[in-house]
Order: sequence, then C-alpha cells, then structure tokens
Amino acid sequence: MDRVAIVTGAARGIGAATAVRLAADGHAVAVLDLDENACKGTVEQINAAGGRALAVGADVADAEQVTAAVDRVAAELGPPVVLVNNAGVIRDNLLFKMTDGDWDTVIGVHLRGAFLMSRAAQAHMTAAKFGRIVNLSSSSALGNRGQANYSAAKAGLQGFTKTLAIELGPFGVTANAVAPGFIATEMTAATAARMKVDFETFQKGAAEQIPVRRVGRPDDVAHTISFLVSDGAGFVSGQVIYVAGGPLD
Ligand code: NAP
Repeated sequence: MDRVAIVTGAARGIGAATAVRLAADGHAVAVLDLDENACKGTVEQINAAGGRALAVGADVADAEQVTAAVDRVAAELGPPVVLVNNAGVIRDNLLFKMTDGDWDTVIGVHLRGAFLMSRAAQAHMTAAKFGRIVNLSSSSALGNRGQANYSAAKAGLQGFTKTLAIELGPFGVTANAVAPGFIATEMTAATAARMKVDFETFQKGAAEQIPVRRVGRPDDVAHTISFLVSDGAGFVSGQVIYVAGGPLD
C-alpha cells in the first residue's frame, strides 16, 4: 500500500510543489489548506500524473479542525505516516508597529499549527513504527528586520523539531527542519509588494546576494523534503537543512 503523506498549506507555493513531488515518489497525499476548494488545483495535478490525492480544508491552528482533518485522512486515504508542516503566513512589521494580532497569528499558524498537526499525526506513525515529520523553518530564524514574529516562530520550529526527533526516534519516526532562503512564491511576491518593489526587480536583487546567483524555486525545497521523507533517510533526524543557495550561519 502507498504510504500516506499530509502536506499543509499545499494549495500553492512550496506546499503544492511538495505535494506533487511526494505523490510522484509514490505517496498518497492529503493536500491540506485553509480552503478545501483552493486545494483542487494541486489534487488535479497529482491525479493527472496518475497519483492519489485528497483535498482537505482545515485551519492548522485550530485543534478541533486538525483532529477532524487527520481522522478524515486516516479514514479516506489511510494512516498518515508522513507529515510536512508547511502552512505559513507573514504579518511583517517593525517591532514598535507590530500588533498583538500580528504576533498571535504568525505564532499560531507556524508554531501551534505544527504542534497540533504533529501531535495528531504521531499516533499513526508510532503505531506503524515508521514516520517522517518535516517542518518548514526559514533563513529568517537567524534574524530578519521586520519579522520579529516570523523569525521567533521559525527559530522555535527548530527547537520543536529537535525535541520531536528525540521523543519519537525510538518509534522509527524522524523529524527534520528545512530552512529555505529566498524562494519565489506568492509569499515573497507579497513582501516585494509591501516594499513597493516590482517582483522581478526584487528577485534580481536577491539573486545577486546568493552564492549560486539565482533565487530558489518551490521544487528546490520539495526535492530536499523528498529526500528527508525517503526510506534511506532514516538515520537523518533532528537536523536543520538550509536550502538557500549558499551557506548561512
Ligand atoms: P504561500 O505561497 O503563502 O503558501 C502558504 C499556504 O499556506 C497558503 O496556501 C495559505 O493559504 C496556507 N495557510 C496559511 N495559513 C494557514 C492555516 N492556518 N491553515 C492551513 N493553511 C494555511 O507560502 P510559501 O512561500 O509557499 O511558504 C510555505 C512555507 O515555507 C511557509 O511556512 C513559509 O513560512 C516557508 N518559507 C517560505 C520562504 C519563501 O521564500 N517563500 C522562505 C522560507 C520559508 P491562504 O492562501 O488561504 O492563506
């Protein structure tokens, strides 16, 4: 039977590329996002390529919705043993202008979301004596102007990942974090718009600062995640892999 994977925030961007890649690798994939209808494009792409996918609408920061979503995946696709915590939002602002809402939303989706999804899915993984959890951190975990909320969440996810690796390792479950640098998606397009810079110009400027002289693509991240969830990566756990076109501190 195909292994079942859940990818959160998979309606578009890095999550969509990851869902498509994990399906091509032979997983049945639950494409989870806030709006079930928005997941249809990713699901159709997987089905058209001969894969198996299910669209699931849920807010990862809501405990009841998370429980219902994971139960539904288990019932309709099978027990999920691969989880990619990718759903994310940004609410950038300098500290003195950052609202309570900006803080709570970002911490809620990234940190509480990854916690709720992992807690719900681990029961299936430990029962199967096999599991793979990948959390999306970011180069912003190292600090980034205007992102006190986001950098705290992304650094927090690194500690969360290492703890999951320690607790779940004895049950055949690995946990790792992927920390992308600049990846061209709607998220970085929104940052460009906020800074009133044309997205092409914004990408060119970013590429000049990156050793491989290009910005990242969602597939760059999907490829790394594909490796981390593979059978052969069972001895890689508790790691943070920067996917940034060069070294970061
Ligand atoms: P994106 O294009 O904005 O996609 C994020 C997806 O997550 C959207 O479909 C969004 O749905 C969904 N989402 C937001 N809140 C959710 C919630 N509460 N429950 C379920 N789904 C939710 O972002 P991306 O650039 O692909 O980024 C994916 C991940 O990589 C994020 O964790 C991000 O922080 C991380 N990352 C990105 C970059 C980059 O350069 N792009 C760099 C480092 C890390 P809606 O459209 O309905 O909001």
